[in-house]
Amino acid sequence: MISKKFEVKESGSLGRGLFAKKKISKGERILEFTGPIIFSEQVEKKPKDKNSYPLQIGTLEYIDLEEPGVLANHSCSPNAGIQNDRFLVALEDILPGEEIVYDYSTTMDEDNWTLECKCGNANCRHIIGDFRHLPAEVRTKYLDLNIVQSFIRKLFLAPVQTKYRQRKSA
Ligand SMILES: [Zn+2]
Repeated sequence: MISKKFEVKESGSLGRGLFAKKKISKGERILEFTGPIIFSEQVEKKPKDKNSYPLQIGTLEYIDLEEPGVLANHSCSPNAGIQNDRFLVALEDILPGEEIVYDYSTTMDEDNWTLECKCGNANCRHIIGDFRHLPAEVRTKYLDLNIVQSFIRKLFLAPVQTKYRQRKSA
């Protein structure tokens, strides 16, 4: 796994993480999340450890992440986010040496899995859970940034669009 943009280093209590090797500009694509497609019943059977993080891409579908994507750590104050379900994109300029992190809750809608967070940011939620459980203002921010997995995005945006259409045709 060779990238000009980032390298793998130890990240304190989080284990390995991805760190910028050079400045990554806001909006720049950092990596594509890759791995075999698996389903929720297989995810439930997997041992929960740091080397395994299935990325949810549908109600029952996941990408069983490979390196380097699997090494990207969570933060409640992310500098990157996932666009188009599988591309990690910089949300701000990321400077050399900075860890590249995204908010795992932008990918989660399963209601059976949470993770303790020790990201240490002032706005740390302490528990990483489903998107629907985020504070409303955080959900709106992530939806506006277009960094919410499309199957979750649909759940939150569809009712508004339907209402709009009804009103228009009335
Ligand atoms: Zn946190």
